[in-house]
Order: sequence, then structure tokens, then C-alpha cells
Amino acid sequence: MVKKMNFEIIVRQVESGVTINESLIKEIKINKPKTIREVGFRHEEQVRIIQNIQDAYLPLQCKLLFDLEDLCPTCGNKIRKNGIHTVSFHSSLSDHKIKAQGYSCGCGWQSKPTIHGEFVTNVHPDLVKIQATLGAKMPYKDAQLAMAEFNCSNRSVNNHVKIAEATNKIGGILHEIKLEEEITVTKGSENLYLHVDGGHIRDKKQGKRSFEAIIATVFKPESYRKVSEDKNVIDSKHVASSALDDHGKTINILTLKAAQKEGLSNRVESLFTETPSHTTVQAMSHTAVLLLCLPKANERLKSPNLLNHSRFIALCTI
Ligand SMILES: [Zn+2]
Repeated sequence: MVKKMNFEIIVRQVESGVTINESLIKEIKINKPKTIREVGFRHEEQVRIIQNIQDAYLPLQCKLLFDLEDLCPTCGNKIRKNGIHTVSFHSSLSDHKIKAQGYSCGCGWQSKPTIHGEFVTNVHPDLVKIQATLGAKMPYKDAQLAMAEFNCSNRSVNNHVKIAEATNKIGGILHEIKLEEEITVTKGSENLYLHVDGGHIRDKKQGKRSFEAIIATVFKPESYRKVSEDKNVIDSKHVASSALDDHGKTINILTLKAAQKEGLSNRVESLFTETPSHTTVQAMSHTAVLLLCLPKANERLKSPNLLNHSRFIALCTI
């Protein structure tokens, strides 16, 4: 016969080995689960447990973060307490309000420290990463629904407008990084395949014209592999894409970088022992990519239906 058991989740604050505060996060009576639903914590309970633990943890961190010297940074006189204010913070799974002490001085100086004031944002980067990742893969309103499902609640920080802002901000930063990325070609490829495809995307704003997106895929002939009679896969490739209306400037830069990552070499870099003096880049039609089948290495070059056959210089100068 199993005795009655309880299970307690306790947060304990310890200073120099001495317990100075303890709070009960959750007390659970252990029962034999009757259904699969009763095994472990429910999804919503898990989110609440983390939220309650963070509610105990964050004020301690904020105390250190907002710690001030006793003297005014402007005039050097002793500062005095000046009311309590609320600091907000949005973590990956939960939102928090933390009470913080404000300070002031007779000279007019005052301080109401916040997490936003310290870090220029009060949203944890883990949350921004989830918002930007989902926002890049699906409509913003669908991303909002997905996040509400995972959070078991509708958080205002996860509304579709905030998800759009996070996606565009991260997208802008990644764009700059990708454009300025320095690529060192350490092992050149003798041949590369380049496939460029474009399409028109309808603008969701009514009355606006559709815009064009271009995707360029670069891969080595040996990366293309037949897995079954009607299926081929590209084991390794680099893809560049852009929907910017800039006369192809961005897509050209990104395509060149994608090709460099696949081993596009030039005569300067051909000093490497294994590097050929140039890379032959073969542009392919969409059908050619779909039909490409490479049963033997020596048939690789003649099997694809090539649109164009040009040396790397053509790509470098596009
Ligand atoms: Zn002062």
C-alpha cells in the first residue's frame, strides 16, 4: 500500500548559506493517474509554474540591476527614495511586472530605473527569435495563433503587429549582415549549377500591385542525387532570395555570395593547390532542375538541359 504523498515546488532564497526567504510555487497531491491527461503537469500548469518561479527570481535580479550608489551622480549629495514604480518584462513564456524603487535628489536629479532603460528593450531575445522565426514562415496572424497555443494565453506582446515588427527588424539586421558577409573560398569547385526562379506575390494591401520575388539556388553537380525513380534531392546547396525592388542589386550580391559558399573561385584565389583556375557556372531552367538525374559522374555534364553555359566571370558581373 503506497502512502499518501504530496509534492511541493518551493523557491528558496539563500544568502551565505542561510535561507532568508521561501515561497511555495505549487503544492500537488500525488494521485494515481486515471487517464493519460493526468500524467505530469498540464500544458497550462507548466507555463504557470515557470511564470511563478520567474516572479520570484526577477525582483532579485532587478535589485542588482537597479542598484545605485548612495550619492547623486549630478551634485554628489545623498539621494533619497522617491516612490515605487512598476517595471514590465516579457519573457519567452510569460509577462512580468516588477516593483522597483525610484530615487531623487534635491538638485532635481531623479531615477526611475526600468529593464527597458537598461537594455533598450524589455522583451527577451528568445521571444523575439520565436516571433521572427514564425513571422518569417507564416502570415503574422497565424503566427499569433501559434504563439497563443504554445503559451495557453493571448499575450499582447505576441499580437500580429508586434510579430510583424520583430520579423521586419530581425530581417533588416540579417539583410545587412548577409550583404556585408565576407566569404573566403577555401576549396574551389570546378563546376556549379545555378538555378534562378522568380514569381509574383500578391500584396495583401488592396489595390497594390503584386511584387516580384527571385530565388537563386547554387549547388555542386555532385550534390544532386537520385533517391528513387521519380525523386531527386540536392544534399547541399546555397539559396539566395530577394523581393526588393532595387533593379536586382540585392539578388545579384546574394547570388554571388551563395556561389562563393559553394566554391566559386576566381583566378586570384586559384593559388590554392586543389582549386581549379576558374569555376564553370551552368545556368539551368526550372525543368532542368526537376529532371536532372545523375546516375554516373561522367554523365553529369551532358544530362541537364542547359540554358546557358558561361564562366564565373559572367556571374561576377551580373
Ligand atoms: Zn543631486
